[in-house]
This record gives sequence, C-alpha cells and structure tokens, in this order.
Amino acid sequence: MSRRTLQLDDALLGYVQTHTAREHPELARLREFTATHPRAGMQIAPEQGALLQLLVRLTGARRTIEVGVFTGYSALAVALALPADGRILACDVSDEFTALARPYWERAGVAGKIELVLAPALATLDARLAAGAAGQYDFAFIDADKSNYDGYYERCLALLRPGGLMAIDNTLWSGRVARPVDARGDADTAALQRLNARLPDDPRIDLALLPIGDGLTLARRR
Ligand code: CA
Repeated sequence: MSRRTLQLDDALLGYVQTHTAREHPELARLREFTATHPRAGMQIAPEQGALLQLLVRLTGARRTIEVGVFTGYSALAVALALPADGRILACDVSDEFTALARPYWERAGVAGKIELVLAPALATLDARLAAGAAGQYDFAFIDADKSNYDGYYERCLALLRPGGLMAIDNTLWSGRVARPVDARGDADTAALQRLNARLPDDPRIDLALLPIGDGLTLARRR
C-alpha cells in the first residue's frame, strides 16, 4: 500500500464540499429536501454532483443513461451540465421517489431533457439494445440496487460509444468491500466485491476508483 496522505474527517469533508460544489439553487433545494427523507443516504454527495457535471462536460456528452434516480439529484446535476439538446434515459422503479424529483427538474428548466422510464432498468436497457442503440450513448451513471450492478455494467458498456464514460456509485460501500463478507451473507457487499474484483482485468475499459462519496468507479469504454 502506498502512503496515506489524507484522513477525511468531518472538517475536511466540509471544506471539500464548500470549495467544490457550485450548486444550482434547485440542486441545493433538492438536496436539502431529500436530507429529511427516511432514505436520504441514497442521495449522492454534492461534490459527486459537481464531478458528474464536470465529467459530462469533459466527454461532450449529449445522450446519457441513469440507472437509479431516487429523488432526482444526480439526474438534475447531469441535466444542467448537458447541452440544450442533451437527453437522459433515467431508469427507476419507484413512482413515489421519482415524483418528488419532477418539480425540481421543472423549476430548473431541464425536465424536457429527462426521459424517466419506470420499469426494471435491466429490461429498459435490454430494450434499447434490442432497438439498435448499442454504442449510441456518451455517459452513464449507475446508482441502484447493488445485486444487479454486474448486469447494469454490462448493458451500459454495450450502450456506450468508444470513449464514453460510466460512473458507478457506492463501490466502496462504507468500507465493507475491503472486509471479508461475514457468515450471515451480505449479498450487496458480495456483489460490489465481485464487480470491483473483475474491473481491473477487463480489457474493454480504462479504470479509476475514486474515494469520493461512498466510492465512485469511473470506467471509460476503450
Ligand atoms: Ca448511491
């Protein structure tokens, strides 16, 4: 192991957040609203939103995919970074959670960029592949049920163009990926460990695993 340079305590994390995220007012309102939600932990961190926006702009993305919308913070961040003709295929199964997102998307003026499909994402992505959309997308963000991450990864990789970028959230899983899965069996941790274990050997991608938020893996299709 190389030398550790940073211990990210609360003070330093707060410093990172106040010195990186220039949140659109609707992003800030949505984050504050979602913080009161019982499942608030499913929302990405503001510094991750800033990174997603930068990555969308760096890749010149126009067509993007989101797997796992929750209350819509990441979709709003990506939509704000897309050009006027940019589009997000947003996949989720929860009408209850995604309904909370729409007023924020509308007030920010980007609702027209977000095509929300309420169905299991594997089926939605398979339908796009069957319709000939392989290689047609520029960017994908995966942040949904961990047991299906392998399936989301394979489908998004097929849908991305060469040079397209995938971002996968929660790949450090509060540090649990670095510990043995206990005897009771933690299916989510095991699924993340399997994905993390095979990505470094996948010749189809360039790879970086960032300790930002709960761990964010970046995979660029070669
Ligand atoms: Ca997440």
